Amino acid sequence: MPTSVVLFTADLRLHDHPPLRAALEGGHEVVPLFVRDGGIADQFRGAPNRLAFLDDCLRDLDAGLRRRGGRLVVRSGDVVEEVCKAVTEADADVHMAADASAYAHLRERRLRSALEAEGRRLHVHDTVTTAVAPGAVTPASSDHFAVFTPYFRQWSERRLRDPLGAPRAVRVPAGVGSEELPSRSTAGVSPGLAEGGETLGRKRLAAWLRSGVAAYEDRHDDMAGDATSRLSPFLHFGTLSPVEVVHRVRRVGGPGAEAFVRQVAWRDFHRQVLAARTDAATADYRTKHDRWRSARTAREDLEAWREGRTGYPVVDAAMRQLRHEGWMHNRARLLTASFLAKTLYVDWRIGARHFLDLLVDGDIANNQLNWQWVAGTGTDTRPNRVLNPLTQGKRHDPDGAYVRRWVPELADVEGGAVHEPWKLRGRDRSAAAGYPDPVVDLAEGLARFRRARGRE
Ligand code: FAD
Repeated sequence: MPTSVVLFTADLRLHDHPPLRAALEGGHEVVPLFVRDGGIADQFRGAPNRLAFLDDCLRDLDAGLRRRGGRLVVRSGDVVEEVCKAVTEADADVHMAADASAYAHLRERRLRSALEAEGRRLHVHDTVTTAVAPGAVTPASSDHFAVFTPYFRQWSERRLRDPLGAPRAVRVPAGVGSEELPSRSTAGVSPGLAEGGETLGRKRLAAWLRSGVAAYEDRHDDMAGDATSRLSPFLHFGTLSPVEVVHRVRRVGGPGAEAFVRQVAWRDFHRQVLAARTDAATADYRTKHDRWRSARTAREDLEAWREGRTGYPVVDAAMRQLRHEGWMHNRARLLTASFLAKTLYVDWRIGARHFLDLLVDGDIANNQLNWQWVAGTGTDTRPNRVLNPLTQGKRHDPDGAYVRRWVPELADVEGGAVHEPWKLRGRDRSAAAGYPDPVVDLAEGLARFRRARGRE
């Protein structure tokens, strides 16, 4: 009876998993394989939060497989070599999900030629890590959309495939060896890091559908209210299927659901940009010929930004949330990225690297292309817009609760006055003692940026 290796990558789940479903067709045996790949391991080295979350996901995937009579096979090494070994041991072909990055493209090419050389087939499945596959919708004159609104129009018109249930039983051939599953690594992990895994992801999704998504349109920018789904790490590691998420959210209906589905479409949008232009992970998508300040020339400003002591409370609150939780609110990501790339005029790649090091959902497509969007080198149609941290703070944290939560030096300052500590007088002034002065004058930062972009 034919056997298949199912290579799990960024799709660590059993529900709605087309490669697993195809491999199990006809009651065949499968080898559910995860390779702790040298290339990925290098990427994870500076990203302990993602590594810890990944460990959770692998253990949960293994537990799910065991409940169905199977188990997860974990190997370490070069992904192509390990897949080829498993294929020979089990006399199998291979199923896996398509993905967008240069690394994923290279992995697929290398696997295909290595397997073909052995007379084996590689089946690559779309719509596992995205709701709509990169390249499935395109404008007339290009292989990808560079602007979100027309992309979203076509994306919305696509009929999504029906989500698949989890398999009832999974049979793994005897004699296929596995390393021990890693226990959650703890070194360097943020103290407030969430737990990972499909089980928790599905619970979070169910809770979100019940009592979060309805208010999403009104509340998604309320930084203190923390009223977004926090599904991003589960989507990043594929413990939730974007196809299933969109189906279930649409079933709830209403403006909150519509606004939320639009955000999931942004995720697909960035993936189709990256799939077509893999160099956009590091090179400007649309260069503005910036001569950015580097890590060396902006050393002190950069340190202040990373450590959350720029003297702009909402920026500092956000950067401290990132360090503490390995996660940050979207509005916080927007305004901290704008502050670094535009107000401080530091190379967006340096900020993006710091985010990737700490974010549990750190994702090449979403992170790099959002950074480019904010820096004005990406797909933003208003590349020279600069977000003012004071206006942003007052608008999206009007009472200052978000700042007080994350900046203990300002915890005793009442109300929205917390956004401008330099204006405090009397009791509030002494309460804020110990909080740093601003590293930059906003008007000067803006002038520098405008000069750099030739917009004076
Ligand atoms: P929700 O608001 O509940 O949205 C639901 C889902 O939609 C998210 O989980 C995410 O998958 C997707 N989504 C939401 N906003 C965006 C967006 N702007 N672009 C693409 N997808 C989106 N998201 C990541 O997943 N990984 C990253 O590394 C990442 N880096 C970012 C860096 C910057 C500078 C900026 C501005 C945004 C970044 N984002 C990133 C996008 C967004 O901030 C997060 O997806 C979101 O904050 C995650 O929280 P949530 O799950 O509660 O989002």
